[in-house]
Amino acid sequence: MFVDTHCHLSFPEFDQDRNEVIARLTEGNVSVLIDPGVNVESSKKSIELASDFDFIYANVGLHPHEAEQPVHKNVYEELAALARSPKVVAIGEIGLDYHYPEYNRSLQHEAFREMLRLAKSLDMPVVIHCRDAWEDMLHILSEENHSAMRGVMHCFSGDTVIAEACIRKGFKLSIPGTVTYKRSLLPDVIRSVTLDDLLTETDAPYLSPVPWRGKRNEPAWVRIVTESIAHIRGIPLEEAAEAITCTAIALFRLPIL
Ligand SMILES: [Zn+2]
Ligand SMILES: [Zn+2]
Repeated sequence: MFVDTHCHLSFPEFDQDRNEVIARLTEGNVSVLIDPGVNVESSKKSIELASDFDFIYANVGLHPHEAEQPVHKNVYEELAALARSPKVVAIGEIGLDYHYPEYNRSLQHEAFREMLRLAKSLDMPVVIHCRDAWEDMLHILSEENHSAMRGVMHCFSGDTVIAEACIRKGFKLSIPGTVTYKRSLLPDVIRSVTLDDLLTETDAPYLSPVPWRGKRNEPAWVRIVTESIAHIRGIPLEEAAEAITCTAIALFRLPIL
């Protein structure tokens, strides 16, 4: 059984052939798919999709890109209401993204803190998007009392030192298809942590693994990510898949499969 803990299956990129993509998931033995929201509209779509399929779950989130303008109080209220819908298992994606220098960091901080507080008030895990912003992200987690939170660093892109800092704060690391890229730091990270610290995701439609790099990604390819982890750690594929499934069930409090 494979788990895709972060896949934007409700995005328009899948509008033409979503049912075929879902059929390939079932054939490919993917037993859990979590569809994260990036704003109010997309969180609604995630919830809608999750309501149609037993094995699909939703997250309600506000991506850092959405915080380029001040976020209106109504948005937080709507997200808080949506987070109480059935099948919502986490608050995400939320976080910080400093990839482009013109991004408004202080507005991102504000939105990130608001959403962390929402997760804490609902006792839900958080799904964190962090790009080139590790120091500030970890600092904000400390200030917002991370010990009362749990969650995952989605699409983890840090090195072994950052990995250790995130794990010390009680977070899991979710490995995407970039693990198959030649210059990826992820193999070192995967060797440096315990198997129980790891989750798998595709972040589809983005970040296709080799040999499909550059094409639209799809959730069935989470198998390739799991195979990479098993290969890097020198363990059987079943052992990796089983451990990662258990970690996902525990973190997101999913019904036992
Ligand atoms: Zn992300
Ligand atoms: Zn994403």
